[in-house]
Amino acid sequence: MTSLRYCSRCVLPSTRPGLSFDDHGNCNCATGKVKASIDWTARESAFRDLVAATSAKGASYDCVIPVSGGKDSTWQTIMCLEYGLKPLCVTWRTPARSPLGQANLDTLIGLGVDHIDFSINPVVERRFMLKTLERLGSPAIPMHLALFAIPLAVARRFGIPLVVWGENSAFEYGGDDALHGPRMTRNWLLKHGVTNGTTAEDWVDDDLTARDLEPYRWPTDVELEEGAVQAVFLGHFFEWDPVRSFEVAKGRGFRALEGKPKTGYYRFADVDDEFIITIHHWLKWYKFGFTRLWDNLSLEIRNGRLSREEAISIIADRGEERPDPEIDRFCSYTGITRDRFFQMIEKFRNPRIWNKDQAGRWTIGDFLITDWNWS
Ligand SMILES: [Zn+2]
Repeated sequence: MTSLRYCSRCVLPSTRPGLSFDDHGNCNCATGKVKASIDWTARESAFRDLVAATSAKGASYDCVIPVSGGKDSTWQTIMCLEYGLKPLCVTWRTPARSPLGQANLDTLIGLGVDHIDFSINPVVERRFMLKTLERLGSPAIPMHLALFAIPLAVARRFGIPLVVWGENSAFEYGGDDALHGPRMTRNWLLKHGVTNGTTAEDWVDDDLTARDLEPYRWPTDVELEEGAVQAVFLGHFFEWDPVRSFEVAKGRGFRALEGKPKTGYYRFADVDDEFIITIHHWLKWYKFGFTRLWDNLSLEIRNGRLSREEAISIIADRGEERPDPEIDRFCSYTGITRDRFFQMIEKFRNPRIWNKDQAGRWTIGDFLITDWNWS
């Protein structure tokens, strides 16, 4: 059994995918420092150049903005409009859409954009979600395939030259330096698309054919080049900070949750989805020994709004937070029992960090918090 190591600056554990530690016990949470040294004025002017080059093409729409109705997509839309782009907004319609998510999406469309709400055949979607949970312990693989695939496909088919994504998570959360730039490529998707490195093609079988899975298919770089589609991250050109994009979105009518956050630390994040995202984040507890809260709090520490001690005490207060209502919703959506759900996910409890104590409870050795209540 390997024990967990935690970054001495933030609270991220060594099990987090893509994270590496230096000799001083710090993770690559130094993004904050890198950000401070970036010439953001030059980056903004690069964005102006991109806008000018794109507008000169005279396409029916200048860009596709992939939107969920969340605070980030609202911010992306506001920025694109401000800089004079004519966008077509495109949404993968989650089967878990919440009323607040719909209201925020309506607000976003009301900023003055055309919009496509793309629904996938629910019979395929349900079967696919169950299959990815069963095989890789991840119910959100279809979601991540779809939300990247559909806007890119729409851009190609409508002859729209630019796709404007939000944050570059490879840069924000640490990851391959080669993927820190402005461009989103297929290689970026494979590493940071949150699909366990799989593509739609990997899931084709007798049950789900290639035709069934077409909406999930990522175009190749060659297909994008042939269609003259360029995909970029807005977070490369403008400093991305969830709290700041929330403030901007709020100013234009975006609403956060009233009560406690659905998952993690922010009341304004993941509000559009009733169960898929919550379960996706919570399963990190089994696989890596942390939850969305760790990610969010680490970002707050990096942005200088929280101390490490404060973050640890928030985690201690909140505990593991098993999302029972969301698990029920997921089970009723996919047509399985709770017992079956827990049977399926137990396979993904990481044996390198979890062990059973004498009382038969699962515990993690060298855990961040010593008096943790192991259930
Ligand atoms: Zn760190």
